[in-house]
Amino acid sequence: MRNINNIISRCEELAFDLDFTRAKEWKNEDKSRVIVGYMPIYFPREIIHAAGGLPVAIFGGGDRKQIIKGDAYYQSYICHIPRSIIDMALDKHFDNFDGFIFPSICDVLRNLSGIFRTKGFGKFVKYMDFPQNFLPEVGGVFYQDEMRHVLHYIKEINGIKVTPERLNHSIGLYNKNRRLIEFIYDIREKYPWRLSMKDWYHILRAGTVIPVEEHNEILEEVAEYVKGDVGQRQDKVKVVLSGAFCEQPSVGLIRSVEDAGCYIVDDDLQLGSRMVIGDIDATSEEPLAAIAHAYIFQSRYSSSIYDVDNPKEYRLAKIVEERNADGVIFASASFCDPSLLDAPIFQNAFDRMGIRYIAFQFSENINQFKVIKEQVGAFSDSIKLWEDEPSSIPVAE
Ligand code: SF4
Repeated sequence: MRNINNIISRCEELAFDLDFTRAKEWKNEDKSRVIVGYMPIYFPREIIHAAGGLPVAIFGGGDRKQIIKGDAYYQSYICHIPRSIIDMALDKHFDNFDGFIFPSICDVLRNLSGIFRTKGFGKFVKYMDFPQNFLPEVGGVFYQDEMRHVLHYIKEINGIKVTPERLNHSIGLYNKNRRLIEFIYDIREKYPWRLSMKDWYHILRAGTVIPVEEHNEILEEVAEYVKGDVGQRQDKVKVVLSGAFCEQPSVGLIRSVEDAGCYIVDDDLQLGSRMVIGDIDATSEEPLAAIAHAYIFQSRYSSSIYDVDNPKEYRLAKIVEERNADGVIFASASFCDPSLLDAPIFQNAFDRMGIRYIAFQFSENINQFKVIKEQVGAFSDSIKLWEDEPSSIPVAE
């Protein structure tokens, strides 16, 4: 096994390589290969893999790219991520990308797909509607049509016909990826000091820009590492971080939360890598139906999913309970409607249930966390001091 520090620093390099060097190297090895960029939150990467493509997550420039042109495309009261994505596109960071997929999350991303189309970025731009009807014969069938649409675009570029065998092979690889990720989350829940959230974030994010086969190898090595009795336990509380599923906070913010006395034992950062819970059937004669079935019946709670029969506040509360967490940190990107509209629903329910929480907002390019660190520090101290009084945290509406 390689040295864990070498693995982590390689993952950090990959995760924040805004030129996507590894993806471009991979593509150059074979003329039929394509790169398809997808925006947060979720996309079934299996289908791109099966079509001879590499799905690459686009999370924006974070705190590593100064926005110069992007501000001209969006008004000031809009989140930050679309501006940095536009800036990256105009500065040719996505050169060699063949197509772009914009999953339906919000109006901002939908409008960004329109800008990409009018600017002629890539060979195709697909705004992908995810079903909000959870009947397999309605939403499931619609979803399969949306996936076929994407496969059609890719076939027009590389001529590859996707067979059930190819799809099942790809599903199997992503099943393995999800299993390894959950294994490491489970170990971190019990022994969070073995792998910091900052390092885990880099490892997970690297997997969104490299072939799944390579990420599985990395995860196997990390899983071996966290099985060992490594690191030193510290006096910290356990929290679940929720709300940062699209625009990502800078890693400095994650580090600040940890330094302020919290172990983050679950989160919705990079939700797409974990959207499906458990395996997707990799033996089906109709693999697209299997993927749709998994989306309908095995999705995590998300602001992008309106599943009225499965209220998300109870689903988050269940995660808190299962992870033995002491509280929740709601971290929303500034002006992120999906996250900020959900926050009161969660918070009202948590007041009733006696689950402690705090809430704050961030922007991907902000790197000053003094206030947040103090707020989180007070939160963790109050949990330690009043462990038996779950409702002692003031409500942050
Ligand atoms: S951060 Fe929120 S508002 Fe902005 S694009 Fe993402 S989901 Fe939409």
